[in-house]
Amino acid sequence: MTPPTGAPSADGPSPGEPLAPPKPVRLSKSRYLSGRQCHRRLYLEIRAPESATPPDRATQAMLEAGNEIGRVARDRYPGGVLVNVGPRQSAEALRRTAELLADPGVPAVFEGAFEFDGVFVRVDILERLASGPEQTWRLIEVKSSTRVREVHRHDVALQTYVLRGAGLSLAGCGLLLINRDYVYGGGAVDLARLFAWEDLTEEVGPLLAEIPGALTEQKAVLAAPAAPVVEPDAHCHSPYECPFWAHCTRDKPARWIFHLPGSSRLVAQLMGQGITTMEEIPPHTKLTVVQRLVRENVEWTSRGLRQVLVTVHYPVHHLDFETFMPAIPRFAGTRPYQAIPTQWSNYIEAQDGDLRQEAFLATESADPREAFAVSLLASVGAAGSICVYSQYEQAILEGLAVALPHLKAELLRVIDRLWDLLPIIRAHYYHPRFDGSYSIKQVAPALAPSLDYRDLEIQEGGVAAREFTRMVFEATDWVERDRIRQALLEYCARDTLAMVEIRRALWRKCAG
Ligand code: SF4
Repeated sequence: MTPPTGAPSADGPSPGEPLAPPKPVRLSKSRYLSGRQCHRRLYLEIRAPESATPPDRATQAMLEAGNEIGRVARDRYPGGVLVNVGPRQSAEALRRTAELLADPGVPAVFEGAFEFDGVFVRVDILERLASGPEQTWRLIEVKSSTRVREVHRHDVALQTYVLRGAGLSLAGCGLLLINRDYVYGGGAVDLARLFAWEDLTEEVGPLLAEIPGALTEQKAVLAAPAAPVVEPDAHCHSPYECPFWAHCTRDKPARWIFHLPGSSRLVAQLMGQGITTMEEIPPHTKLTVVQRLVRENVEWTSRGLRQVLVTVHYPVHHLDFETFMPAIPRFAGTRPYQAIPTQWSNYIEAQDGDLRQEAFLATESADPREAFAVSLLASVGAAGSICVYSQYEQAILEGLAVALPHLKAELLRVIDRLWDLLPIIRAHYYHPRFDGSYSIKQVAPALAPSLDYRDLEIQEGGVAAREFTRMVFEATDWVERDRIRQALLEYCARDTLAMVEIRRALWRKCAG
């Protein structure tokens, strides 16, 4: 996008362009955290948001899940009142919040708005602890996470800073996290046990002292005519993926050293030495096998590959599972974020090469585990190896064996027949198109170029999980439900067909 005359581009003004002073902006909680991650990110978010890569469907799904948890958490505070004012109406939100704070009959305020030192925040939950002239409050930040992260402490610290600066008497602050140990018993979710309280009152104390200085720096960054120059590296991915990664790395070479797999410390060391591409890695550098293969950028087949491939028994089943992991458990006996298997695909290859596919996909809102397991046992029968890609299927089968004790013996026999293709490839084959990754989505197109995922509506597991939830729990239109069902079946089928093609391609490598 071409910036209007007189305005600096995202990365700096064009030579000779007159500079307009940047408009002052108000900081927020998310902008402050962006600025803590990277000053350039903060600048681009405000001055050049169009340079960001839009969130993908998996990220959107995570955001939606977080919002849902925020809404459910409010039910822990009966009588609490929501400041039901849109994000752009800050003055109205401040006014309404002040009104609710002054009303002793309001035990909690949701999405209350506060402003101090040029920072505007909305607080998930403010719980009134005492009324009258000595009235005090507790600040509660709701997270869909199951553990406290460093970024959460800074998040709560900034809110505490703003609320205290705005004159509120805070007696405490902390996080409401998801309690992974909660086992849902059926019926209404026990909100007291679904959430776990982490008091951060003591911990945020030392962080408060950093805030005025950090804010001064961030305001100076935003007042500059151009984005600060910051070299992209590991900081771009933590604590959050930066949406400007593609923008900041657009001029990097194809074999940029940052993509060397393995130790990030080694990558940082090499970058510190001014090395920018794989080819420039000095010969004496201590590298793992994979790193050496990536540097050499050549196809490699181990002499032992054939010996491993012949250990498979026909008929060979090629099996892949899809799961969804609801933060708020939906089925009795399950925990938050427990992986619930929802579909499988099995491509069965006979000794003569004949290939057929069988599949299962849950389409109702009832617990799918029993139907999943029974149909799977019928499909894999009692004969042949079961080819999988990673240990994920084993973990799910083990979970099913616990949840369905009457099927335990049969499920354990299935586990005994698993034949994992991933460690075989890791140990015996490499192709430059892997780019150091052994993900099936990277490996399959390299070995079987006709196999791609780009034509699929669903292209990765996170989206599949979200779409399953939509199909079963949200979509009311049968046309939409059927469209999702088809997309899910095609996606899971592709992963299993990929295993067939990878095995066949590896065989050809041995024969060659
Ligand atoms: S990609 Fe990295 S360097 Fe660029 S703005 Fe984001 S965090 Fe900063």
